[in-house]
Formats: sequence, structure tokens, C-alpha cells
Amino acid sequence: MGEKALFIEHPTDSSNRYVVQENDQDFLPWVDTNALPYAIMGPYLKKLFDQAFMAGLHHPPARPTADNWEEALVKTIDLLQPCLNPGCVKGWYVFDNSARPVCPYCGAPFRVQLPVLDFYSSRDGLNFRPDDHRLMVYHNQYLYPWHVNRGLFPNERLSEADKKPAGYFVFHKNRWIFINQTLAGLQDVTNKRSIAPGNFVELTNGLKLLLSPEKNGRLVHVSLIEA
Ligand SMILES: [Zn+2]
Repeated sequence: MGEKALFIEHPTDSSNRYVVQENDQDFLPWVDTNALPYAIMGPYLKKLFDQAFMAGLHHPPARPTADNWEEALVKTIDLLQPCLNPGCVKGWYVFDNSARPVCPYCGAPFRVQLPVLDFYSSRDGLNFRPDDHRLMVYHNQYLYPWHVNRGLFPNERLSEADKKPAGYFVFHKNRWIFINQTLAGLQDVTNKRSIAPGNFVELTNGLKLLLSPEKNGRLVHVSLIEA
């Protein structure tokens, strides 16, 4: 459509919206943008879709870079939740932070209490600022070195050692716990105690954990959300 190109899911101009046809039955719900809008990809990817297909559609310099996409994909993986419906066609979806989340693919409601970890990091070891990066916990979810240190990123430059998990989360006897595997400097800041490798810490609402005292080491704020 050249200079008339228009994003198929443009929020205010629906003139290029795809209308589901009768012979689309085999391709539903995938071709129905009302059932599965691009926003279900989560906040980080939605922002880049907007940049690419709206702001940057007729202005290529405004489009996201490959690095932007890579970072958004990595952060989005951390927002994934398993669907509670064992018959779900997808099995996983991006948690949307809403009060009553449902799986966009099968409509199964999300009905558990689960911890969300918000990452903070410091340039000087004193003042911690939010990283706009959160990890949604689920049973057997892992914590990796790139969560622990903001200087690391899971790309082709990551060392073999940094691909190994630092610990993992389990739901055990009605509580969520983090099992520390490799973090030598893990501190429970709230209760002022160290958690050595091989030990665990229960995740409670408001808990603050310093994952590493090293430069670029991250601080985590735990929230327990219920739905
Ligand atoms: Zn589902």
C-alpha cells in the first residue's frame, strides 16, 4: 500500500482491519485480531510493534533496532506464565498484570497466588533504581546470572558459566521459596541475614533481596499477587 500503508491493528483507524471470513474457520482464532490482538505479546513487545508499525511505518529511522527487539523478547520471556488449563492449545501466555488475568488462548482464569520479582540495580552500590524488568515466578522457574547482574545479557556473548542457573523457585507446603544454588552474596535485606548457597528463603510480600553485592548486582522487590 506504499504511502497509504496502515497498521492492520491501528487503534483509531480501523480501515485496514482484517474482517474474519467464513472460510477462515480452520485458522481461528489465529487470524482474528479481535480475539488475539498484538497486545497479548505484553508491554515490552507492544511498545515496539507500535514503534515499528505506527510511528516508524512511514519513517524508518523511528523503527526499533534489532537490539530493542532482543531486549524486549528477553524481558517478555520473564513475564510468561503457564496456563492452568492442561488442554490449552498454547500452554503459556504473557501475564498482563491485570487484576483478573485470563489465558488469551483458552480463556482459563489465573487462580493462584504467585510472587513477582521487580529488579532494581545500582551504578554506585548505594542508590537502587528500577530496571523496568520483572520476573514472574512459577513452580520450577529459574533465576539466571543475567537477573543477578545488570551487566550480563543472555545473548551470543554470554559465557558458558553464566548460562547456568543461580537458583530456582518452588511452591512447597503452601509457600513459595527460592533455593539458592550459586549466589555467594545473597542477602535478605528485610530480615538482615545471609542465605548461603544450598539454603532457601521464603518469598513474602514486600521482601527485599540483594542478589549480589558486586558492581551491577541487583536488588529484588518481591510482591505476592493474588488473582
Ligand atoms: Zn490457556
